Amino acid sequence: MTQPAAYIRYCTRCVMPETKPDLFIDDAGVCNACRSYERRREVDWDARRVELVRILDRYRSRDGSTYDCIIPVSGGKDSHFQVITILELGMNPLCVTASTDKLSPVGRRNIENLKSLGVDYIEVSTNPLVRRRMNRLALRQIGDISWPEHVAIFTIPVRIATQLGVPLLIWGENSQNEYGGPAEAAENNVLTRRWLEEFGGLLGLRVSDMLGQDGIEAKHLIQYTYPSDEQLRKTGVTGLFLGHYVPWDGYQNALVAQAYGFESYPKAVEGSIVSYENLDNFHTGIHDYFMFLKYGFGRGTSLACLHLRRGRLSRRQAIEIVKRNDGKFPSVYLGCPLEEILADIEMTRDEFVKICDRFTNKKLFVCDARGALVKDARGNLTRINDDNVEADVASGAR
Ligand SMILES: [Zn+2]
Repeated sequence: MTQPAAYIRYCTRCVMPETKPDLFIDDAGVCNACRSYERRREVDWDARRVELVRILDRYRSRDGSTYDCIIPVSGGKDSHFQVITILELGMNPLCVTASTDKLSPVGRRNIENLKSLGVDYIEVSTNPLVRRRMNRLALRQIGDISWPEHVAIFTIPVRIATQLGVPLLIWGENSQNEYGGPAEAAENNVLTRRWLEEFGGLLGLRVSDMLGQDGIEAKHLIQYTYPSDEQLRKTGVTGLFLGHYVPWDGYQNALVAQAYGFESYPKAVEGSIVSYENLDNFHTGIHDYFMFLKYGFGRGTSLACLHLRRGRLSRRQAIEIVKRNDGKFPSVYLGCPLEEILADIEMTRDEFVKICDRFTNKKLFVCDARGALVKDARGNLTRINDDNVEADVASGAR
């Protein structure tokens, strides 16, 4: 049987396409994220927990005059899990939130719930007028409306760590997955400036690039600026990924969080397949949609893969669910209409659609004979294939 000239290749174990940045599929057809998950079985989690306790003990305040650590939080299920775990270990954390770009009411309620777990809490809100300009600039320039938020999530807690002289930051999961490490190791455990630039989702846009655009001046960028090496050294700022020390599972975290009052959404979030995450920022629908346009996978695919690896979905089910929910045009997210978001950032729907098209990888989606993207009445695209073509042929699906 002849293959089409071009098609998207998928991991044969999960449903992630090869077009995801930093994803590699080996000769057996299995991606590095699945391989990495496989290696988790060999981890001695008891030993890791002992190591965690040892590290925490080293940073614990002897006289209670300051905090033992800082936990950067959004108020989501993972934040709840981090705080619950760290409190159980007898630490006195300071929780720090960098305000989300466009906070939802359920997001606010979850932040309040997180505080009620029994922690001191600081929320830093950057100037919303400037942030909206940055949302717009980043959407136009790199196709990511959430860029200012991604920067602030990393810079603000680290700034507070240096300001208050609290060296230890407890992050959640290393988004580069199982590649975390112990706090005393020199490499890849700590969330450094380099990690931030490489993996923090900044997409090559630097904070300094904002200067002079849309009237943005240095004074507007204070909270977006990572502390200097000298400031970091003075406090001895270090960080660890909790996901390195305890087996990390977002679904399990959600169950724990819910038992402590965390509120999920009444239905699967638009463009996602679950109801328990990314509930705090109305912009997330746009952010995830651009991921789909650029790389051919949305939030639904990422979640399906996590569940699939843990045996909670079959591959066939995952493909169906992804087809149903993933990569839909973000007309509405958490009930917030696209028009409201665009009005905030002073952008027309027409310009928004043009930006979408400009960032779409046309090789991944069905186009007409003239090479124009084919869209349905709701503006949705169709991926050229949702599973490996050979597998489809074998199963008689095509
Ligand atoms: Zn995989």
